[in-house]
Amino acid sequence: MNEGGFFGEYGGRYVAEVLRGPLENLENEFRLAQTDEAFFSELENLRRNFIGRPTPLLPALNASSSIGGADIYIKLEGLANTGAHKINNAIGQALLAKRMGKTRVIAESGAGQHGVACAAACARLKIDCVVYMGEEDIRRQRPNVYWMKLYGAEVKSVSSGTRTLKDSVNAALRDWASSWENTHYLLGSALGPSPFPDMVRSFQSVIGRETKAQLGDVTPDALVACVGGGSNAIGFFEPYLEGVRPILLGAEAGGRGAGIGNNASRISGDGRISIVHGYKSRFLVDLDGQVLPTHSISAGLDYPGIGPQLAYLAESGRIRFVSVRDDEALEALKFFAIEEGLIFAMESAHAGAAAITLARSLGPGKTVVVNMSGRGDKDIFISAAALDGPAWKTFLREQSITEEDS
Ligand SMILES: *Cc1c(COP(=O)(O)O)cnc(C)c1O
Repeated sequence: MNEGGFFGEYGGRYVAEVLRGPLENLENEFRLAQTDEAFFSELENLRRNFIGRPTPLLPALNASSSIGGADIYIKLEGLANTGAHKINNAIGQALLAKRMGKTRVIAESGAGQHGVACAAACARLKIDCVVYMGEEDIRRQRPNVYWMKLYGAEVKSVSSGTRTLKDSVNAALRDWASSWENTHYLLGSALGPSPFPDMVRSFQSVIGRETKAQLGDVTPDALVACVGGGSNAIGFFEPYLEGVRPILLGAEAGGRGAGIGNNASRISGDGRISIVHGYKSRFLVDLDGQVLPTHSISAGLDYPGIGPQLAYLAESGRIRFVSVRDDEALEALKFFAIEEGLIFAMESAHAGAAAITLARSLGPGKTVVVNMSGRGDKDIFISAAALDGPAWKTFLREQSITEEDS
């Protein structure tokens, strides 16, 4: 990181004056924690016994021979507690909040995955947790709202703007401006004002470090990850960023195809440089800087921006980006279920699809490692509607009738 939290021209800390103090304080406390052995041994303990780390690295022998190309390995982040990589960051920041003497954590959530991870981490560490969520997202993501409440978190409905993720980020920042003395803002991806991009990467880099150790003598030719805000990708790639090898490939949501409103491809699509949510990066915005609507079959990949370090590494050419469409992700979901007995999260299935294409083009004798950022149980309402059609709809109808009767 350069002075002021910039990666090239991206990043920075574009916030209201009231938030500069809390962010500087957070940066200092994070720096201190990094040299605190007690902090790291507690974090290590939680990673092992609460999250279930290290997560396995699976040699995907069936998938590799079915494709007839490069050997594929799959990092199984989906086996982490709460079902995805988000818990790595949530537990790290929640522990930091505790070290800073904060008694309350606030978080933003779109699809609800980050909210669930925060709620679980805060339950474990006995910190109050408030999750801001757009009214529209609360309606669409009922199961995750239910889990958050079961973990004891308060879910606050945001009814401003489009009532989705970008509005919940704004609501969380507003809360923090007046509550920071006792409250930590637990941001969910490798973005936002500095020091969040560095802090989140640091907590997620456990994915890449484990992968490198688990590969042992095997030198990978390529690493593939899906990119929403970019936290699983930057954490997975982190130990490999120096130099020019291996190939690092980020899969963005190609949605229904090209065109504004059809996808969430910021780098491989129509993103432009702008400042949103306190940092400079590439966003899907109009000429006035207003955030444009996005679409993806996966709720975790439809954020209109991308972490500043990834935007920088895209520009420098170190990381390549491709768009993967909804239908391609669904095909990859079926493929890995049948070949390997793994249900990828819909987000991760984008990485899976990109890995299949890359393994085919690299050919035998090469090695491709793909991060399965989460498992797909949470997506049953989307994947079953797409793949099981009428039978699933009948099931849903019968469920609601049974409930009305009882
Ligand atoms: C949230 C989420 C993502 C996208 O977030 P990143 O910060 O880009 O990693 C990807 N996969 C899963 C399973 C998620 O829950």
